[in-house]
Amino acid sequence: MQHTRPPSFDPLRDATVTDLITKRPNIYGFSGLDRSAHIREREGWLTELLEISTTRLVPVWRSRSLVQDTDGTPSAALLSVVEHHHLIARAESVVFLGDYEGVSHVALDLSALEETEAMDIFSANGAFMDLRQIGPLLGRFEGSILAYARGVMWWHQRHRFCGVCGTATEIRKGGHQRSCTNEDCRAPHFPRTDPAVIMLVHDGDRCLLGRQKMWPEGMYSTLAGFVEPGETLEEAVAREVWEESGVHVRDVRYHSSQPWPFPSSLMLGFHAQAKSFEINRNDDELGDAGWYSVEDLARFQDLDKFLPRRDSIARRLIQDWVEERRPDLLPAVDAVPSAYPGQR
Ligand SMILES: [Zn+2]
Repeated sequence: MQHTRPPSFDPLRDATVTDLITKRPNIYGFSGLDRSAHIREREGWLTELLEISTTRLVPVWRSRSLVQDTDGTPSAALLSVVEHHHLIARAESVVFLGDYEGVSHVALDLSALEETEAMDIFSANGAFMDLRQIGPLLGRFEGSILAYARGVMWWHQRHRFCGVCGTATEIRKGGHQRSCTNEDCRAPHFPRTDPAVIMLVHDGDRCLLGRQKMWPEGMYSTLAGFVEPGETLEEAVAREVWEESGVHVRDVRYHSSQPWPFPSSLMLGFHAQAKSFEINRNDDELGDAGWYSVEDLARFQDLDKFLPRRDSIARRLIQDWVEERRPDLLPAVDAVPSAYPGQR
C-alpha cells in the first residue's frame, strides 16, 4: 500500500504559536493538527488511512465527546483503529481531522447508536460527556480536537439533505464536503462555521457587562452577536452593542479568536471604547446591563454575581482588560466562579 503524503502546512511546525499570536492561545484553538487538505481529493485515501495501525479514532455521540477520567483528571479517549475498526461501519459520518505528531485522527459520528449501546461499547474507554463540562481541564490538543470533531459532526447531522433541491447528500473528501446525489443538481456543500463577534466595551475605568434572560441567575458577560451578511466585523461590534445596550463605541480593536462549536461558531473577540455611556437596554435581548469597575469585578461574588465560564473568550476578554489596568486584582477576578453548574 502506497502512502505518499507530501508535507503540508502545520501551523505549529511551520510557525510556532508565538509567531502567530502575541497572547496565550484560547482554549479549543491551536491544536497543532496538520489538516492535510491536499490529500482529501484523492479517491480511496481515507479507506487506506483507516487500515494504518497507528490511526486513532475520535468518537462523537449526539454532540458528546468520549472522555476518560483518571483519578478526577479527564482526558480525551482517542481509540486505536485496530481495536475499534468495527465501529467505522456503524458511523453515520467519518471525517479525517488531521495528523498530529505523525498520527492520523479520524472522527466517527456514532449518534445512531442507542444510548445503552453507546455506553456499553465504551464502558472500558470512558463515557460520553459534554465538552463544555471538562474543556478547561483538557490540554490544548485534546480540547481542540474534541471541539473540532464535535463541530464538524454537528454540521454533517444537519446537512443530510441538499439545501438547493432537497435530495439526500453524501459525504465526500474525507468528510470535508457533502454533495447532492441528484444528478441534475450535484450541489456541493462545505462545512461552515458562523462568525460571531464578542466584545468587551469599556470607558477606561469601567466595563459594560450584561446578562441574557436565559442565563443562570447572576451571570454577567460581555455582549456578543452574529455577523450579518454584508457587514464588517467592526460594524457588527458597533451594531450589536448599540442594539443590545444603546451604547455607541469607537476604536474597535481585535483581541483574539476562538472556535466555539456549541454548536457552530467562531468567536471573534474585541475590545472597544465606549463613546456614549447611557444604557438603553433592549429588553428582548438583555435582562440587565451595567458598568462595572475592576474593583466591582474583584468582589463580584459578594454582589451575588458570576463571570462567564473559564473556557470562554468572554472570560478572557474581561480578565485581560483587568490585567492591563489592575494586575494586582487579577487573582481576585480570576477566582470569581462561573454560574454554570456541573462545570469543573
Ligand atoms: Zn441538490
